[in-house]
Amino acid sequence: MAQAVQLSVRLVDYPTHGLETLDLAASKCYRSTVNPDWPEGTLAGKCADSGHTSILEHGMLVWEVEGVSRALLGQLTRHRHASFSVESQRYVCYAGEKVAGFDYVIPPSIAADEDAQDDYHFLMYCIQEQYAKFVSQHNIPSEDARFILPMGTATRLIVSMNLRAFIEFAQKRLCKRAQWEIRRMTQLMVKSLKAIYPDPTLGSDYLHPMLAKQLQPPCKAFMPELPTCREAKSCGLCPTVAQRAAVADAAALADTTALCNRAKGGA
Ligand SMILES: Cc1cc2nc3c(=O)[nH]c(=O)nc-3n(C[C@H](O)[C@H](O)[C@H](O)COP(=O)(O)OP(=O)(O)OC[C@H]3O[C@@H](n4cnc5c(N)ncnc54)[C@H](O)[C@@H]3O)c2cc1C
Repeated sequence: MAQAVQLSVRLVDYPTHGLETLDLAASKCYRSTVNPDWPEGTLAGKCADSGHTSILEHGMLVWEVEGVSRALLGQLTRHRHASFSVESQRYVCYAGEKVAGFDYVIPPSIAADEDAQDDYHFLMYCIQEQYAKFVSQHNIPSEDARFILPMGTATRLIVSMNLRAFIEFAQKRLCKRAQWEIRRMTQLMVKSLKAIYPDPTLGSDYLHPMLAKQLQPPCKAFMPELPTCREAKSCGLCPTVAQRAAVADAAALADTTALCNRAKGGA
């Protein structure tokens, strides 16, 4: 029987020395030593701020992700510096002894509409019936029967990224312009880091400030003092580059007009 499932994210492996190794790596570049009076992550943070982000490549973060759609998988695997192990739809048969039916994800827009949700569940039921018929009555192998499965079919996977790759990924996928599912997954991945990279003063309810600064949508991460959206269409949180430029042009024009008027008045 096909059934709806929920997204889950679990950090399964991580660097055991917090940000210490990154500080050590940063100190190597300058033949300095890590100042024991500085809070952990200070040196690595300075490097990251100056764009010397290769420091963040030391140490792998590994997550187990379940209950995400194959639509999300297509988006996630576009990030080329991540490594993946994904449940196979060739080797796992969704109408066998081990797995009785495929799992699926319901988009919130469909879940919010009772009729649409009923139709959705019914469609999944029909697809499961047809899949099982192909496999059991027509001896179609799973690798071919899967061609009728929808984008909403849930999958499970292991994904690994180093901190640098994760920051690049998270900045793109925390943006409100990213789709709700990958955005939610990314938020949970970021949240999972609080336990291993806690704020040294506020504790593990908060992420280490060096990372909290980076693990944000690009509009906030790149220029916090002047948040600017690089997308063509902003989510509304802050103006786009074009909108900022228009304001700057108008200000420059006003300045020029004022200068001309002053020059005329003086003449
Ligand atoms: C909101 C949103 C909408 C999107 N819409 C679409 C869409 O409509 N269609 C579509 O096809 N994709 C879409 N994408 C995916 C997007 O185009 C990227 O493929 C994805 O975000 C991964 O980005 P990346 O290549 O920078 O990341 P990564 O592969 O993780 O690469 C990270 C960085 O490494 C460097 N790098 C990696 N590979 C190379 C290379 N071969 N050459 C040079 N430098 C490299 C670049 O600096 C890159 O930024 C969308 C993404 C987002 C966030």
